[in-house]
Amino acid sequence: MSVFSSKDFDGHEQVVFCNDSDTSLKAIIAIHNRKLGPALGGCRMYPYASDEEALRDVLRLSRGMTYKSALAGLPLGGGKAVIIGDPFTGKSEALMRAMGRFIDSLGGRYIGAEDSGTGVKDIQWMAQETAHVAGFRERRTTAGPRSGDPSPSTAYGVFVGIRAAVLHALNSTHLDGVKVAIQGLGHVGMHLAERLHNAGARLWVCDPVAARVHEAQERFGAVAVPLDEIHSQKVDVFAPCAMGAVINDRTLPQLKARIVAGAANNQLDENRHALELHRRGILYAPDYVINAGGIIDIYFEIHGDDEVAEMVKLEEIGDTLSEIFAEAGETGKTTAEIADRIAERRFMRIAKGTSASAVA
Ligand code: NAD
Repeated sequence: MSVFSSKDFDGHEQVVFCNDSDTSLKAIIAIHNRKLGPALGGCRMYPYASDEEALRDVLRLSRGMTYKSALAGLPLGGGKAVIIGDPFTGKSEALMRAMGRFIDSLGGRYIGAEDSGTGVKDIQWMAQETAHVAGFRERRTTAGPRSGDPSPSTAYGVFVGIRAAVLHALNSTHLDGVKVAIQGLGHVGMHLAERLHNAGARLWVCDPVAARVHEAQERFGAVAVPLDEIHSQKVDVFAPCAMGAVINDRTLPQLKARIVAGAANNQLDENRHALELHRRGILYAPDYVINAGGIIDIYFEIHGDDEVAEMVKLEEIGDTLSEIFAEAGETGKTTAEIADRIAERRFMRIAKGTSASAVA
């Protein structure tokens, strides 16, 4: 397996391969860039078909975190971890604690959190072994205590982003009657469905877990569609909230939505798909910009709960997207290119330790 010459390597600072024979843990931790601060990113658990697939995923995800934190105006770098295994059958306290020890060995250069396939309980197990994990502490809010799960904040950020995209592409200041297809009703997708429903949007949904689809049908009057038809629904917004690479050579020609805006990381199979979306007049909300609510939430968990400041940061996701959409419109460049350029300006220019407000 090539690492340094991998096309996804992109100058990563450190890539750590973790093997614990007692628990059969196999994991990779990738630290992309720490110019703005410690590398914070989720720890995903997924039954990758090969080590190469796991490496590709972790490299792409950790790079995305560098860009995400920079554009969210947070003093954090980019990193990510993947555990190679089935999250339904392969978890144990011992395995998560072994992962915690590997994270600890990095001395705070990488800070882990939950991601697809891991949850608050897993991070609590890791926290038995390391101080360098977040997203698991009970939080106090004016509405009462809540778990450390960042997904509701991610969903709120996506909701704010969809509002900005609808304003830009459909010239509508509200979501009443706007049609949205949500791919995946997990931690983020279900919260997003609730927000959109409350704002008057009409929903089309899919998920391999039938109970989640039934819940969305009952609570939000959503229309259930087959997994492989969600992207081709006649809707205004396609919101990928499950896995990556869903905008690809097969799905792209079938898209009927005017907007692609959802929580999933790495939605574009390849960079060229941003150009193809642009050519077809489909507005793409760059994934790492619109799904920054989770990292924002975790940042505020680490640096002291401040509900008002957190809400301001989440709302800024909409402002940032509006700027990106406008600049893309003026320059003829893709929204993905514009977002990358703004992020790179921030993390290349600013030295480690700069405050969040200075970054923003
Ligand atoms: P999750 O695992 O809770 O939910 C994913 C959902 O997608 C599950 O309900 C799963 O059954 C469903 N799914 C799996 N395969 C599918 C398919 N082929 N078609 C439709 N649905 C399918 O994950 P999550 O925390 O909700 O995150 C969703 C996405 O958003 C992931 O890509 C994640 O990386 C990204 N994201 C999440 C957060 C967060 O705070 N949780 C933050 C940023 C980005």
